[in-house]
Amino acid sequence: MIVVIKPEVDEEAILQIVQKLKRMGYGIHRSTGEKRTVLGAIGRRREDAAQTLEAIPEVEKVVYVTRPFKLVGREFQPRDTEIRIGNSSVGGKEIAVIAGPCAVESEQQLLDSARAVKSAGARFLRGGAFKPRTSPYSFQGLEQEGLGLLSRVGRETGLLVVTEVMDQFTVKQVAECADILQVGTRNMQNFYLLRELGKIRKPVLLKRGMSATVEEWLMAAEYIMSGGNYQVILCERGIRTFEPYTRNTLDLSAVPLVKELSHLPVIVDPSHGTGKKSLIPAMCKAAIAAGADGLMVEVHPSPGEALSDGPQSLNREEFLQLMADLKGVAQIVGRTI
Ligand code: PEP
Ligand code: MN
Repeated sequence: MIVVIKPEVDEEAILQIVQKLKRMGYGIHRSTGEKRTVLGAIGRRREDAAQTLEAIPEVEKVVYVTRPFKLVGREFQPRDTEIRIGNSSVGGKEIAVIAGPCAVESEQQLLDSARAVKSAGARFLRGGAFKPRTSPYSFQGLEQEGLGLLSRVGRETGLLVVTEVMDQFTVKQVAECADILQVGTRNMQNFYLLRELGKIRKPVLLKRGMSATVEEWLMAAEYIMSGGNYQVILCERGIRTFEPYTRNTLDLSAVPLVKELSHLPVIVDPSHGTGKKSLIPAMCKAAIAAGADGLMVEVHPSPGEALSDGPQSLNREEFLQLMADLKGVAQIVGRTI
């Protein structure tokens, strides 16, 4: 249930309500807005609870949340979440652009990619050190060496690093070098991993499972938030359908839908969403028009030689052109890029 505190109630009174809820057996999650504080009380439904709490003078109202996701939902937090990372943010007025190669392949490849995305105006560098590949014979990533390269290149170029974490055992290792930890589509319902990510205090970029419903996706985010880590960014990356001309079907309707249901920022990955570089510019424009807070685009200095996902990677010039073309679209919807 959600306990909405009246405006301008002092901290001491709020803490007393928190203590009371804890004594009643609830786990408490707090959202402090500009005007109002809202307490998410998670626990077994008690019929008398609302009455008891509404009798407290500082409590404005008690709302039972009927949806299965509680902390992720708009009822818990009506205003949009903006996640600040260094001098940048995800979920603010500026469209967050995360770009870089699918996989970290070498120092030179990463540095060239980083310089390309930086000069085009991106603030975040992506690159996989641990690669979840369909075939065990495909390139699996440079692992720890790749993480080291990401740290170094990120620092050198001033870009924030986004990289995938594949299991619960490597969360600390990845968190040491990443500014945002990515959960891949194949791991969206790896609940041990999600629980571990709930314990850290770094942003998590949660990709939608390739066969996940919107509700399953939001429940995966709820796992992370229920652990106390409220910094979750949702990423639509395409879902499986019967259509073979594209690698996935990019579900852009998920963007405004999730924005209705949740306060969390939503970004779109047209590279994995389509699998085709020719479709990326149109889908980036459409994503911004649909209300996305950011984009993830694969960029490689030489896509033809990429060890993974070359056909969906832009080269330096193509990315530069894309970023220039997106400015106008961003402006129309009141955003910057
Ligand atoms: C990736 O971002 O490189 C990746 C593997 O993405 P996904 O999990 O969406 O397939
Ligand atoms: Mn990829």
